[in-house]
Amino acid sequence: MARYIGPVCRLCRREDAKLFLKGDRCFSDKCGYERRQYPPGQHGQGRKKRPSDYGQQLREKQKVKRIYGLLEKQFRGYYYKASRMRGVTGENLLMLLERRLDNVALRFGFSSSHAEARQLVRHGHFTVNGKRINIPSYQVRPGDVIEVREKSRKIQKIVDSLANVDRVPRPAWLELDKEAMRGKISQAPTRSDVSSDIDEQLIVELYSK
Ligand code: SF4
Repeated sequence: MARYIGPVCRLCRREDAKLFLKGDRCFSDKCGYERRQYPPGQHGQGRKKRPSDYGQQLREKQKVKRIYGLLEKQFRGYYYKASRMRGVTGENLLMLLERRLDNVALRFGFSSSHAEARQLVRHGHFTVNGKRINIPSYQVRPGDVIEVREKSRKIQKIVDSLANVDRVPRPAWLELDKEAMRGKISQAPTRSDVSSDIDEQLIVELYSK
């Protein structure tokens, strides 16, 4: 599946929020958003217009897409899937995104950013219930055990990320055994496990027009 490979700090500046797309750099004073808190581009420092309803919905959708490292087609696919499920569409959408294998690898602390997690998954460094899985969009389920493969335990990126694992609080639905480089999905994620800065209702309003 295609992915965005351009500069990422400008995405945070566009969304006016830290999206934590660059790993360690996001926690340092080199963070592009901390240094330049205005939108990218020639007119970034110009007069700010009040966004329209559509503008707000669009920005919220773009923000969530960028947080999870997806492009439009795939993201829209998740929306349609969420809208066909029982329950609240916006919450279903976030839960589908949270249960992606690359996202889970990041939340466990096996990587420092979504892009890195995606690459590690693609390169086959993880197993799910003992089986090697290299599909970033793989949906994990409660009870699944995600483990760094025996051969991959010395990969510096993974070792470094695990050393900083306590930098970000881990959601309650994930149990990590840091020494064994293994994590278990103890329960399904809930809305409270996802940042309250996201207003998923705006995304639903945008797509349901
Ligand atoms: Fe965003 Fe990280 Fe770049 Fe800061 S360093 S602007 S949080 S991607």
